[in-house]
Amino acid sequence: MKMSKMLMLTMKEVPAEAEIASHQLMLRAGLMRKMVSGVYNYMPLGLQVLKKVENVVREEMNNAGAQEILASAMIPAELWQQSGRWDAYGAEMIRFKDRNDRDFCLGPTHEEVFTDLVRSEIKSYKQLPINLYQIQTKYRDERRPRFGVMRSREFVMKDAYSFDKDQEGLDLSYNKMHDAYVNIFKRCGIDAKAVEADSGAIGGSNSAEFMVQSEVGEDDVVFCDSCNYAANIEKAQAVAEECAKEELKELKEIETPNARTIEDLVKFFNTTEKKFAKTLIFNADGKIVAVMVRGDREVNETKVANALGGVNSLEMASAEEVLKATNAAVGFAGPINIKVDTLLVDAEVTKMYNFIVGANKTGYHFENVNYDRDFKGTVGDFRNVTSGETCPKCGGKVTISRGTEVGHIFKLGTKYSEAMDAKFIAEDGTKKPFIMGCYGIGVTRTLASIIEQHHDDNGIVWPLQVAPYQVSVIAVNSKDEEQMRIAEEIYNKLTDMGVEALLDDRKERAGVKFKDADLMGIPMRVTVGKKIVDGQVEFKLRNCEDIEVINIDDVYNKVN
Ligand code: ATP
Ligand code: MG
Ligand code: MG
Ligand code: MG
Repeated sequence: MKMSKMLMLTMKEVPAEAEIASHQLMLRAGLMRKMVSGVYNYMPLGLQVLKKVENVVREEMNNAGAQEILASAMIPAELWQQSGRWDAYGAEMIRFKDRNDRDFCLGPTHEEVFTDLVRSEIKSYKQLPINLYQIQTKYRDERRPRFGVMRSREFVMKDAYSFDKDQEGLDLSYNKMHDAYVNIFKRCGIDAKAVEADSGAIGGSNSAEFMVQSEVGEDDVVFCDSCNYAANIEKAQAVAEECAKEELKELKEIETPNARTIEDLVKFFNTTEKKFAKTLIFNADGKIVAVMVRGDREVNETKVANALGGVNSLEMASAEEVLKATNAAVGFAGPINIKVDTLLVDAEVTKMYNFIVGANKTGYHFENVNYDRDFKGTVGDFRNVTSGETCPKCGGKVTISRGTEVGHIFKLGTKYSEAMDAKFIAEDGTKKPFIMGCYGIGVTRTLASIIEQHHDDNGIVWPLQVAPYQVSVIAVNSKDEEQMRIAEEIYNKLTDMGVEALLDDRKERAGVKFKDADLMGIPMRVTVGKKIVDGQVEFKLRNCEDIEVINIDDVYNKVN
């Protein structure tokens, strides 16, 4: 591509609306332009990269035996009514009516469409397994579009759907997709880790999200420091809750509540539903002097009351009364020593709730105690999963960090095939629902994640595999005919070799050309300047400071 002819939209200024590096650079390097919130138009350079990422995805999907199709983005409501999701999907779905008043949506995902397709076309187990995919534009009216194409309202997704005759088949299909995803993200140069995800009603380890660790990620991911356990926060919470339920069973066997130890109480509070924040306050001797619970009081006060041996409905108490009562209960005369433990409750949030406060003794509790009014100090909040907690797999310590979900693989089972009556004739002649899996990759989000992981102060640093162009050939002095001629010759020869090259033949200063090549992230740069009198040019890699002076003929070996 000759840059004098190209729609070049690089800009020096950092656009005010862009908060994160990838968003800023996609605008600055001229990859895209915003049309309206969460909706972008791809410019030549952006489209070039998008195609590269799509092709990596396509090649690996094809290698894994999946077949590409292209479904329509316009989907009739009937399909969604059959699966029960027309009402369930909510405001994220973009809906409209055709001229005959028939309901449609712009597809946010395509389980229904693919299930419908397969139910009409596939009749027998002999035609299974099959995995169909598409790379297509999806529409979701996100509550909060942000960070450019990281969370946009229109985005490109690769979505695949597998259909098997039995569970073993699904396991195989799922594992194939898992491996394909590992290859895809590796080839894109991003470090994405498969983490266990909560698969809701279906249960089991049937869903994994591919997460890129990133400060700008919108998800919390739990990693074990000692083993390879990794899960998204929802899954980790669910596992923690399961464990807690087991412990609760044991706790119930303790008969005299007042005999409980601090550990028993901590365990108990971890078993109550996680929407309730639980706070225990200890005195200097490590005894519980106060328990604070917020949330759904009706359910919870009873639970707390039972845990503590029964609460009489007491009047609202002042801080002093609380102190007196709790101190009396534990026989401790001094001021309450509030011990800080693990994650801190945000004081602002705490202020909004009323608590039950009391000692580990029957009758010494107050309702409706307000943190700010009746209590001050730092409080510890026992959440189910926090950094430093125990790994459910190996007992090591876990760390929570932020992550971006770039892909998601999911064993659906018969959820959609049952609901939509999608059946095949099995080996024994009976009709059975397809056993399904679905597998998504956010292609445009992946593109942004690549930039997030590969950039420096001067701009993007594309990994070679997805670079829009591999080489940029720059004539230092555009008024020098010889330089221009040689630059063009190199460019032509590279192009003939099948190398995707840019020729910067613009009437610009060399500095501007270098800056743009860096901003656009082109991996290799060939600079044609004064050294051509000795038959030489300069060669530089984007991710390396060194400049090599080489013979013109060596350019072609270097680049290959
Ligand atoms: P998120 O949790 O980020 O909202 P999701 O779980 O709703 O994503 P899926 O339904 O699993 O998304 O879709 C498959 C993939 O599509 C996601 O893993 C993500 O990479 C991508 N994706 C989802 N929503 C968006 C969006 N609004 N903008 C860009 N990519 C998206
Ligand atoms: Mg979402
Ligand atoms: Mg998600
Ligand atoms: Mg998801």
